[in-house]
Formats: sequence, structure tokens, C-alpha cells
Amino acid sequence: MNGLDFTSAVLAWYDSGHRDLPWRHTKDAYRIWVSEIMLQQTRAETVVSYYDRFLAKYPTVQDLAAAPEEELLKQWEGLGYYSRARSLQKAAKMIVSEFGGQLPADVKRLRSLPGIGDYTSGAIASIAFGIPAAAVDGNVERVICRYYAIEDTVGTPAARRMVTEKTQALVPHDRPGAFANAMMEMGATMCTPRNPACLLCPVRETCQGFAKGIAAQLPHKPQKKAQRVENRAVLLVLCRDRVLITKRKEKLLGGLFVFPDVLEENDPAKLCAALENMGICAAYDEKIGHAKHVFTHLIWEMDVHALVADETVDVPDGQWVTRDELQALPLPTAVKAARSWAMERLK
Ligand code: SF4
Repeated sequence: MNGLDFTSAVLAWYDSGHRDLPWRHTKDAYRIWVSEIMLQQTRAETVVSYYDRFLAKYPTVQDLAAAPEEELLKQWEGLGYYSRARSLQKAAKMIVSEFGGQLPADVKRLRSLPGIGDYTSGAIASIAFGIPAAAVDGNVERVICRYYAIEDTVGTPAARRMVTEKTQALVPHDRPGAFANAMMEMGATMCTPRNPACLLCPVRETCQGFAKGIAAQLPHKPQKKAQRVENRAVLLVLCRDRVLITKRKEKLLGGLFVFPDVLEENDPAKLCAALENMGICAAYDEKIGHAKHVFTHLIWEMDVHALVADETVDVPDGQWVTRDELQALPLPTAVKAARSWAMERLK
């Protein structure tokens, strides 16, 4: 089977039936872009519920550019990887100021926007504008590595280049967008990370990975770095019907609200002392529970403590919020359990 046959077989398979996903009903570049950013690191099934709601709130790139950051992050709450939402808005502002409110129909110019890399620019260009550009995400990389039995470790610039070149050679000039979707569909439903459904696959007969019996072992990934563990004491500082939250300044979860926390410390007296340093006089109440959150590179082990403050003193980047306000603010999934416990306490 040559490249043309591969492409025809994959397209015919896609045409015979695929998942009905809302972003497959449009060629609108803005909508395709939003879906592609949401789909980075997140399963399509999860994105479906966010996608429609997000576009109902921000139907145009101008609406997105003008959205208050806090409101935008609230819309993104639960999707994780919040830097995606911030980059999306940064890019929206650039599209409004530099491209007349239209996403550019050009891979290079798309690539120049924040949050848009090789994959996303290829996906938008091919799906929205019919440009025959390769869009190589993890799914496509897996299909290509298996089909050509590429045993190099993926993730290096050289391997990425090779996979992109091989994919590019398969992109049909008449239906590049359908091909991009078909390849993603192949990776997501047929050539899956574990247990690829080779016996049902439209390109099985010429798949070199299948022929060699090594498909399921490919692609070879670089060894993952061990995740660092941080022990955090999360402080629910309560004062009558309010609890203290602060806006994070760090890159990770920056701009989102969290409860004050103390690293590698659990002693009640030391936790009260940490609050005193913020100008808050509080009495320790009790440890409420434990929660864990796993980021890509980091694990937070969180002991959640309740403390009762004398008064709601002003704290830099802090707010004393009621139960309803706490509900309405964007908080990361990492502190979801702590938020539930705070809501319980504020009843
Ligand atoms: Fe993937 Fe198997 Fe199809 Fe090859 S035959 S492309 S390994 S599903």
C-alpha cells in the first residue's frame, strides 16, 4: 500500500462512521481553534460539555478577547491546564488587534499566536482553511510510528521531524481537514495506546508494526521523570460567614483562587504563626481531611485544616468570601475537596 492507498483507506473508514463531536460540524476557524486548545491534554468526552458552554458565552473572538480574566477562568474551571485559557485570550487579543478579528489562513501566522504550536496550527489550517498541512498530535504520532514500525524514541526534534514528514506525505490536497480528523479518530478509537484493534483496522494489511508484531509496544517514549511530591497544609481560615482565599501568583495555577497554604508544615502552632505573618490572628480548630492532586510533573499531598480568625483583616491578594462567592469564583480542581469542606463549614 502506498501513501495514497493509506490515505484513501483511512478516509473511507472515517467516512463510514465516526464519533459525532460538536466541533466536527463546523469549519469556523474560531470554533475549531477553541476545540483544539480544549482537546490538548483533555479527552474529547470531557471537552464536549465545556465546548458548547464556552462558545455560548464567547461566540466570537472579540467576545473572548474582551472577557474579564476571572470570568474566563471560571468557564475553564475543571478543564485544568489553565495556561491554555490565558494563552487563548492573549491570542484572541492579538487576532483582534493585528489580524482584523479573523484567524489568519496561514500556518506560519497561526503558529505565531500564543498557545498555537505545530499541531494546532496544522489542525486549524487543514480543518478550517483546507490547507494541506500535517497535524501531528500524540494520536497521529502513534498511528504513524506503528504503521511504519518506527522504533526511534519519540519526543526528540529529529523523531518529531520524521513523523511530521511522513504524515505530511499522506495529507491529501482535496480533503486535508477530513484527513486530519480521520487520523485523530484512528488514534483515539482504533490504534489506541493499549490493545490496538488491528483486526478491524483499514490499513492492517500494510501496517509494518502489525506485521512485525510490535505494534502495541510502539511508540517508544522517553522515560518519564519522577514526579516531585509537595506536602501542603491547606488552611481554611474562617471568620463568621466568610473564608479567606488568595489569588495565586505562581506560574502553576496563576490567577486562580486557592486557600492559603504552608509547605512541609503541619504543626498547629506553626500554622497559626504563618497566618500571624500575614497579619491574621487565628485559633487552630482541627484537621478536616486529606486530599491529593496529581499534576503532570508534581503531586500535591494536602492536609486541610480549619482555623478560626478574630476578624477579616485585609490580606494582599486575599479576599474573605461568603459561601455563594466561593462557589462563583474560579478555583482549580486541586482544591476541590478543600472547597467542599469550606462550603460545609459556611452553611
Ligand atoms: Fe494501528 Fe494496528 Fe492499524 Fe497498524 S494495524 S495502524 S497498529 S490499529
